[in-house]
Amino acid sequence: MTAELYQIEHTASYDKNEAAGGSANPCVRCGKLCAYDSPLYVHLCAGGSAVSSDPIECQGLANYQCLNSYPIGASCAKRIPKRFVHIRAAALEQVK
Ligand SMILES: [Zn+2]
Repeated sequence: MTAELYQIEHTASYDKNEAAGGSANPCVRCGKLCAYDSPLYVHLCAGGSAVSSDPIECQGLANYQCLNSYPIGASCAKRIPKRFVHIRAAALEQVK
């Protein structure tokens, strides 16, 4: 099955937030610092702004480069369709 793609739009304050947070673990949408144990992530494909509905593979997306997973804040996760937000099971294990 071909994965679906969704274009993430940075918020207006993305650059400012990313600079303030030191960009260590910025939310892909608003640039605010995410906790390292944040369980929510998106799977970026190509150019750093398109995310895949598939949590791991970019199968069927011939012209896209898989850029792996990046954190998204809980409030930003609510602003994009649910099928593009994935939960990191390993992160949940680590915080125990
Ligand atoms: Zn955010």
